[in-house]
Amino acid sequence: MNPFTFVTVEDVPGALWLAGEGTSFIAGGTNLIDLMKVSVLRPARLLDINRLGLDAIEPTSDGGVRLGALARNAATAWHPLVRERYPLLATAILAGATAQIRNMATNGGNLLQRTRCCYFYDIATPCNKRQPGSGCSAMGSLARQHAILGASAHCVATHPSDMCVALAALEATVQVVSPRGERTIPFADFHRLPGDRPDLDTTLAHDELIVALTLPPADGFRAHSVYLKLRERLSYAFALVSVAAALDLDGGIIRAARLALGGVAHKPWRDPAAEALLVGQPAKEASFARAADALLQGAVPQGAGEGSNAFKIPLARRAIVRALALATAGTVTQHAEDAP
Ligand SMILES: Cc1cc2nc3c(=O)[nH]c(=O)nc-3n(C[C@H](O)[C@H](O)[C@H](O)COP(=O)(O)OP(=O)(O)OC[C@H]3O[C@@H](n4cnc5c(N)ncnc54)[C@H](O)[C@@H]3O)c2cc1C
Ligand code: SF4
Repeated sequence: MNPFTFVTVEDVPGALWLAGEGTSFIAGGTNLIDLMKVSVLRPARLLDINRLGLDAIEPTSDGGVRLGALARNAATAWHPLVRERYPLLATAILAGATAQIRNMATNGGNLLQRTRCCYFYDIATPCNKRQPGSGCSAMGSLARQHAILGASAHCVATHPSDMCVALAALEATVQVVSPRGERTIPFADFHRLPGDRPDLDTTLAHDELIVALTLPPADGFRAHSVYLKLRERLSYAFALVSVAAALDLDGGIIRAARLALGGVAHKPWRDPAAEALLVGQPAKEASFARAADALLQGAVPQGAGEGSNAFKIPLARRAIVRALALATAGTVTQHAEDAP
């Protein structure tokens, strides 16, 4: 690990004063420290933001909820407001990592966790995300965890977060501050596709601090939502494919739908046109299959031989249909054994 200085900041203006190139905020440290240990990240200075507060979870005047950036993932998932109003989000968070990691990990840090592409972690291999212009080791190689949608000739990595898939489906917004003031970023615009700049995961500037996430009211989806995560083993693994599905039903007819995929692209994958296909349709398999085909339009496998991820396309299609069927039957929440 490279040498670095460690500064604990006591207030937001102090954090913004010191932020910038070569400096990283540290929250739970569950991703940043791992990346520093293997020399993928080498910040010269860490700014510990854990004393900034920013951990409140509170209702908004319009019936939504504001989640502090420094609220822990576990505290968020188990908060009564989140469990009651956004079971989809609570379930997605509890599908990620382990109880110990969720106790440390923060909401802001979860959004900014880096890809789990094995080549990104291995500094002996070329990787455009880690070292722009060096090449992509995943192309034509082992790519089981990689993208089938939205990839570029420069990078085929996926975003690994479970929480973010639910946040995309729920149309959250991200509140950030910087020396230039405050701004609010719609969730769909927060993460980027790789294009020719895979080193940039998000639209956040180096000196911007996430202070909160805001969830708009989603009462119509409360009774029919599910987060379905498919992975190599049942716990402690990242998604091969995941689906956040939420339906607003009028009897057996779909009034509104939300559908987002994880594990398939550089950002949570959502297409309002696929959701629109469900509106006014019976909540039946034929409707679900049409939406799945639309959402997966343009899917392309990566990798070669046994390392290919071609299996992900039919897997994702079946997962979407299954998630929508489960959501129709009623909201699926976390398992009782996950209780704190
Ligand atoms: C073994 C293991 C298994 C895991 N499994 C899963 C899984 O299955 N699903 C899943 O979704 N996740 C999983 N994770 C990832 C975990 O959820 C993330 O590591 C965690 O959410 C990151 O949060 P943190 O607060 O620890 O971030 P940190 O490590 O502190 O920071 C991560 C990044 O965010 C930046 N940052 C943090 N807070 C802010 C802020 N407020 N404003 C601006 N920048 C900020 C930091 O500078 C850094 O670049 C796993 C992690 C581990 C170690
Ligand atoms: S897929 Fe992206 S992160 Fe992985 S090796 Fe290629 S450039 Fe790097």
